[in-house]
Amino acid sequence: MTSTQPSPKRPQLPPAFPIYWRDNIAYERARVGRVFNYRRPDRYPVAVVEPINDDHVVQAVKLAKDLNCRVSIRSGGHSWASWSVRDDAVLIDFGRFHFLSLNKKNNVLTVSPNMTGRLISQLLQPHGRWFPGGHCPDVAVGGFLLQGGMGWNCFPAIVTRFHLQTLPAPGFVGDSMYLYPTEHTRAALDWIIKLSPGYDADTEIVAIGNYIPGLEGPHTAVRLVTFKNTEAEARAALKLADETAPPGAVMRWCCETSSILHQYDIQHAANPEGHRYHVDNCYIDNDADVVSLIEKSFTEIPTAKSFSLWYSMAPGSRRNQKAGEMKEMALSMQTDHYYALYAVCETPAQDKECIKWLNDNMNIVKYHSPGAYLGDSDFQRRQTKYWTDENAAKLMYLRQKFDPAGRIAGYLNAGDTSGADGLANQHDWVSTMNLP
Ligand SMILES: Cc1cc2nc3c(=O)[nH]c(=O)nc-3n(C[C@H](O)[C@H](O)[C@H](O)COP(=O)(O)OP(=O)(O)OC[C@H]3O[C@@H](n4cnc5c(N)ncnc54)[C@H](O)[C@@H]3O)c2cc1C
Repeated sequence: MTSTQPSPKRPQLPPAFPIYWRDNIAYERARVGRVFNYRRPDRYPVAVVEPINDDHVVQAVKLAKDLNCRVSIRSGGHSWASWSVRDDAVLIDFGRFHFLSLNKKNNVLTVSPNMTGRLISQLLQPHGRWFPGGHCPDVAVGGFLLQGGMGWNCFPAIVTRFHLQTLPAPGFVGDSMYLYPTEHTRAALDWIIKLSPGYDADTEIVAIGNYIPGLEGPHTAVRLVTFKNTEAEARAALKLADETAPPGAVMRWCCETSSILHQYDIQHAANPEGHRYHVDNCYIDNDADVVSLIEKSFTEIPTAKSFSLWYSMAPGSRRNQKAGEMKEMALSMQTDHYYALYAVCETPAQDKECIKWLNDNMNIVKYHSPGAYLGDSDFQRRQTKYWTDENAAKLMYLRQKFDPAGRIAGYLNAGDTSGADGLANQHDWVSTMNLP
């Protein structure tokens, strides 16, 4: 299907209904203008609706029914695989649908789906509250929350309002960093992966393999960000890492003063706009030799802006599981180790090298993984489990019960074939493994 195909017969719509049919001059802007990934998809919705109120949303769904096509949804446009852009669909883009209200009695914040983590943090700051949204400042709560959402410290429907329980803002955010060249990568990963499971619960721990401007070759940055009430508490939390960090760091600091908004700025710089992104991820089994599985992707990185990431889900992963708190969560599948690869390039000519890097490294890890996190997945490239079996079965049951026609476009797989049945919750390698 291409953009030059004629628009279908158009039903009667209310005057000034905010719709862009394919022959509208602004259609291309409406189709992909708010998509973060510059790898623009070759998929063309029947029309794009940009609602400013609930009636517009209802009308857009009725329109899709009349046209016998699907509905796809965009809140912040940060799906790496551009899930909002689908053939045979009316795309509802929440970019102009604004709502925000803080209930001072219970500190519940009601927001529209297009509100971003940074905007929410800025607006909550004067009230001494915060909400741990995605690390990237411009990810919207719409996709972030529905996919599980790995925030700071961490169906078949269209959601027009989210009610978020805000938290008291931390009084002090402390930031530590240890930067190692390639020859010390193994020691650095081994240290931080062993240290993490029992570490302070208010501290987020991450290792990033990337290029640092002005330094030769890839480097591994181990970063700890702690969210405390006072500087003394933050220093106490970061002390153990500082005392045990292996030698060989070319740069290091301990407990520098930071803030949530400062951390958003760092993430913004790490995920530059206007680039082509190829992304993959998985959770790694707790008993796997994690360092050996991921080391290569930290020392061989395809382009200057690409990066590999290991993120400690512990101690939360074990605490939540033990308390049975994860059963109802979209983020129901977790291990202690989250691993993701972000290949970033500027031209289509670099895509091949980026995809090879993802495939080569994921082929090393995937047999030691129960599945992946939805928000960083692209099922067009690699099929994997994404929820626990129990939760996936429940989702499919609900999907078929409330949307038997498959009106709402589900997760996007190769060829967009999952339809009303929903995307299979299985690894691509299981059938290969079962061959006689
Ligand atoms: C630069 C960058 C950094 C990121 N960092 C993080 C991170 O730190 N932590 C993390 O967890 N994830 C992160 N992600 C992944 C991100 O959270 C997911 O891709 C998320 O889905 C994006 O939400 P969105 O609303 O901006 O995207 P969109 O592309 O607008 O939405 C993605 C999909 O979610 C569904 N959806 C969105 N809104 C609605 C709605 N109102 N009703 C029903 N369905 C809806 C639709 O299927 C839609 O196609 C990052 C992504 C990028 C590009």
